[in-house]
Order: sequence, then C-alpha cells, then structure tokens
Amino acid sequence: MKKIIYISFFSFFVLMPFLYFTYSPFTAFLNTYIYFSSCDAPLNYRIGFIDSRFNIAQDEFLQDIKDGEAIWENINAKNMFDYDAQGELSFNLKYDNRQSLNTQIGELEGKLDNGKSILESNIEDYENLVDQFNQRRKNSNEKISYWNSQGGASPEEFDKLVKEQQEIRLEEQKLNEMSGNLNLSTTHYNTQVGELNATVDSFKKELSLRPEEGLYDGKEQEITIYITSSKNELIHTLAHEMGHALGIKHMSNSKSIMFPFSTQEITASSEDEEALRIVCQKQNKFKVFAVNLYSRFQDIVQSFPTDNSRAGVKEAAKVIKVIDGDTVMVLMNNKEEVVRLIGIDTPEVLDERKPVQCFGKQASDKAKEVLNGKIIELEDDSTQSNRDEYGRLLRYILLNNLNFNKLMIDGGFAREYTFKNNFYKHQSEFTKAEKKARESKIGLWSKCSK
Ligand SMILES: [Zn+2]
Repeated sequence: MKKIIYISFFSFFVLMPFLYFTYSPFTAFLNTYIYFSSCDAPLNYRIGFIDSRFNIAQDEFLQDIKDGEAIWENINAKNMFDYDAQGELSFNLKYDNRQSLNTQIGELEGKLDNGKSILESNIEDYENLVDQFNQRRKNSNEKISYWNSQGGASPEEFDKLVKEQQEIRLEEQKLNEMSGNLNLSTTHYNTQVGELNATVDSFKKELSLRPEEGLYDGKEQEITIYITSSKNELIHTLAHEMGHALGIKHMSNSKSIMFPFSTQEITASSEDEEALRIVCQKQNKFKVFAVNLYSRFQDIVQSFPTDNSRAGVKEAAKVIKVIDGDTVMVLMNNKEEVVRLIGIDTPEVLDERKPVQCFGKQASDKAKEVLNGKIIELEDDSTQSNRDEYGRLLRYILLNNLNFNKLMIDGGFAREYTFKNNFYKHQSEFTKAEKKARESKIGLWSKCSK
C-alpha cells in the first residue's frame, strides 16, 4: 500500500513534470488539458420566443442570427456559434412599448406619404381648374366690354352673356368650396404630422431610457431583442449581444459592433477584432485560477492604500445628467448610475442647507457644457472602493482619452480632493495641477477667497 502511494507521488510530482518539459508529444497532450480558450467550442443556441407582432418568421430570424454570427466568425475563421434546437443560449424577440411605438411611426409615415400625394394631386387639380376658370371669366368679360363698346349686344347675344356669367358665378362657388375642403385636408395632414412628431418624441424618450435594442442575460443565457427598425440594425444588435455572450464589453467607437447604441454598422471595427482576439487567447487554467485567487485577495486588501499602477477597467457610458461639477448621472449597461468623480471637489450648488458656494455654478455649468449627452468612458481605480457611502460609483471620466477630473482642476473649476487620506493613483498629478491653477490664479483661484 505504501508502495502505491510512493509511486503515485513520484509520478505526479517528478515523472510528469519531467516528461512535460522534455518529451514534446506529452507536452502537447497535457497542454490540451492545461490551456483553454472561450472560443474552443461553439456556443449552441436555439430560437426561443418570437412575438408575432414583429412579423418575422422563425427561418428569417435564424438567418438574421447567422448574419450576426458571421460578423464574429469571419474575424478569426472559427465556428463560435452553432444552431441547435436544444442549445443553451436562446434568442428571443420580445415586443415592448418601444417596438409598438416604432411600428406606429412606420404606419403614420406610410399614411402621411399616401395622404401627401393625394393632397398634392388634389391641389394640382384645383389649381388647373382655377386657371381655366380665370381664362373663361376673362374671355367673358372681354366679350361684354366689346359689346358695350359697340353700343350694346343683340337680345340673343345678351341672353347668352347673362347665362355665361351665371355659370361663372356657380363655378366660382364650386371652386371656393373646393378650396375650403383642401384647407381642411391640409389641416388634417398637419395634425397627422404633429401626431407623428409626438410619437417620434416619445420613442426617443423610451430609447434614451433603454438605449439598447437588445439585451444579453448571462444568468438566464438569453438574448432578447426589443426593437428592430431595419435589417441592418437587427443584425447589428444580434451581433452586439453575441459579443457580450463572448465576454466582450462596450466600446466608445461608434463604428464598433460593441458601441453601446444601435447603428446600421454590420462590419467589425479593428477594436472589435482586437477584443475578440483577447477573448479567444489560450489561457492557462492554473494561471486563471491564480488570477481569480489573486483578485479575491485584492478585494480583501483593497481598503489599504497601495501604489498601484494597474490600468483601470474602462467602461463606456452615456452622460444623461450633470448633477454638479463632481457628480454626474450616466447610463451604463442599461442602468442609471450616479458617479462621483475621484480626486476632485467642486464648490457646492445643490445642498439646500448651504448657500451656493463661490464658483459652484461656474463649475457645474462647465461640466454640463463638456459632458451633457456625451458618450464617455468610466475608469475605476483599484485603490478606491467601487462605491461611496451614498452608493455612487467612484470613477474617473475619460473623454476622448482625456481625464475630465484633471481638466476640472486644470481650469480652476475644482479643488484637488483626497478622501480620508486614501491616496488615489493620480493624486500627485492632480495636486501638481491644482498648484499650477492656483499660481496662475484661474477660475475659482481668482474669484473666491479661500
Ligand atoms: Zn451592450
């Protein structure tokens, strides 16, 4: 018995490592167990629920999914998604308010186009009739003038002229009636245009709350599409959600499939390609295990200040509201989040208990001017906690790769701020920027007594 234990021990700790490093067929054999990639095996998917109001048949939907799939598979010529009636990942078309508004817009536009062409042809008919009428009246009046200059018409001619004038008056009445109707039709048409605009407005509002036309739910293994405006947009959205299923995050380049808003783009950008390459890299199982263990350890020591130069994780978001110079509300991963900017403090504007502080309004206006409605990147800082005590995310805002937090200090709109002596990674840089702004007396450094 002891012998068996010795042999197992020897082969596991001595023989196997020896063979692994010296005998290449064995190395290759073992590597297939040690290395893995998320792209090794295709993800099997099935069609889940299709709401009939989308007017998309199952075959057609499957073809759209395959078109989206091809965007990724063409990058590395690998089979990454496979249709399988029993597949784990399901694709669904769910009809919600947004799709119904979208359909309404389509229908109204159709009605309007039709109404417009009818209206235009009626107006043309009316104008032709008016031209004919004017010509006829002119001729008749000329005849009357002629007979008057001749000292009067014969009784026969006179009767004819009276009859002609009566007809002209009748026709005038008819034309007036027609013009009234045309005015009514125009008003009706304009009302419909107003209705369309209102629908478009509420559609935009719905979209700004939930900008993504689809959603990937990793827990339920579901991809749900809520809205389709065009074929390309549907394929874009499908490919986008498949990207999430592969583990790829949002990107700020609007040409990317992983841009957080739906577009007509159906080719991958170089950023998309790079992200896929990273996702498909072979990973060492032991290393992944060690990295996971390390990040657990990091969570525990996170509260201690460290000189950590690890690049922060960046995520794309859209600014939906600037609350004040150091706090904004964003939309990220379909969720509204309030973000407190790391390392800066701007004068108070919102606290009702305090008067608006010196330069508070200017700071808040500056942030609004620069950030309102913008697509930004949020970068975290591993020396800081993820959220503050009010539940706000603690982040740096990157706008075209510029650190907005620092820009606020540079412009004299904010003071450098280290929360509870917990040094953040850009602390020395921000402190220098503050010194420079103070010495140059810009912004609050010229306007406010400290
Ligand atoms: Zn997304």
